[in-house]
Amino acid sequence: MSQATDIKTEYKNTLEFAKELDKSDALKEYRHRFLIPQHEGKDVVYFTGNSLGLQPKTTQSYLQQELNDWAKFGVEGHFLAKNPWLSYHELLTDKMAKVVGALPQETIMMNQLTVNLHLLMVSFYRPTKQRYKILCEAKAFPSDQYALQSQVKFHGYSIEDAIVEVAPREGEYHIREEDIFAAMEKNKDSLALVMIGGVNYFTGQVFDMKAITEAGHKAGAIVGFDLAHGAGNIKLQLHDWKVDFAAWCSYKYLNSGPGSVAGAFVHEKHLSTTDLPLFAGWWGHDKKTRFFMDNTFVPMETAERWQLSNAPIFSMAACRASLDIFDEVGMGALIAKSKKLVAYLEFIVKHINAEKNNCLKIITPKENRGCQLSIVANGYGKKLYNALIENGVIPDWREPNVIRCAAIPLYNSFEDMYRFGEILKRLL
Ligand SMILES: *Cc1c(COP(=O)(O)O)cnc(C)c1O
Repeated sequence: MSQATDIKTEYKNTLEFAKELDKSDALKEYRHRFLIPQHEGKDVVYFTGNSLGLQPKTTQSYLQQELNDWAKFGVEGHFLAKNPWLSYHELLTDKMAKVVGALPQETIMMNQLTVNLHLLMVSFYRPTKQRYKILCEAKAFPSDQYALQSQVKFHGYSIEDAIVEVAPREGEYHIREEDIFAAMEKNKDSLALVMIGGVNYFTGQVFDMKAITEAGHKAGAIVGFDLAHGAGNIKLQLHDWKVDFAAWCSYKYLNSGPGSVAGAFVHEKHLSTTDLPLFAGWWGHDKKTRFFMDNTFVPMETAERWQLSNAPIFSMAACRASLDIFDEVGMGALIAKSKKLVAYLEFIVKHINAEKNNCLKIITPKENRGCQLSIVANGYGKKLYNALIENGVIPDWREPNVIRCAAIPLYNSFEDMYRFGEILKRLL
């Protein structure tokens, strides 16, 4: 079916209809819990929650609490603060674990995403002469590519030989999972690690992580995911899927502020293995004896083992403000709205497309997507993006001609989708 004719008839591209959808939206009040950037006195249509999520109105008071306790107690705040800093990171664990479908002991908030990928690969990329290859998606996020390449080089292998990339087929935009499985089968005697972005940052394609994990294990490999675009966006069941490890950032869908603390997951099955190699620091040492200042490392029995340093309280405070909202809403309700919102956005784009000679093409797979749509605007360069910005829409632009729009269920409205459509129609 062509994109132009594949339009849901029950939807309407009118302001009244969008407002009706907003009225019956169970999460409509949450938009008011966020600070929405302004353009000429009106809320922008914010489509970049996949890049930097918006600030919850509560973030400031969560941060202020820690600033106040620092002022009041100095170092004693580690014990006397309302939320003692010594164990502050523990306040995030349960809520974060629920968002990614993990057990609390499998989850830890620490460092930054790329740092966590490296720390986890220290433990889970253990190449041997026989098994040294890493399978990943072609055109992975640059930081992930650099991380994989540098790990391979660090262990003395060549990038060309050790990194196996699976690309979309000629003329296609997303990667066929059958091609991932075929590459695993082909390399099953030499594959050490499968490391894939669970949701592709460029196309918005969601991979079948359960099936990839199973197939990776069958090929004798360890399986890890970068969930920068998965955490807080789609339903994840890291524990049940038996994923070995994962890492994600908290500033995209998780609204924790620029550069905020990242997350990591290590499956329970690896936690009882005490001889797993790792780079150690004092915050990974058994908390019961951490302050004996002994020189023998005794690992924590949880994912906290991978912590190196004491926790960054301010970014954790911001993260906590956001996770409290996620916990209140629950991933079920969030995803239910996300599906409706992105379906309406898709409808709007296709409706406009039909009027505009099919110059737009949605490259995000309909059956495997979160709340992001990546749209190719044929014949339009970055000028279109600039014009959108000037007109109060903030999407993002990826060279050469892709506009990414993330319809965020916590703070985007159905009216946002309509307004975007009207502006887009005018500009095309
Ligand atoms: C956003 C993103 C990153 C960013 O890495 P940081 O270490 O947080 O700077 C890495 N990988 C992917 C897939 C991303 O989407």
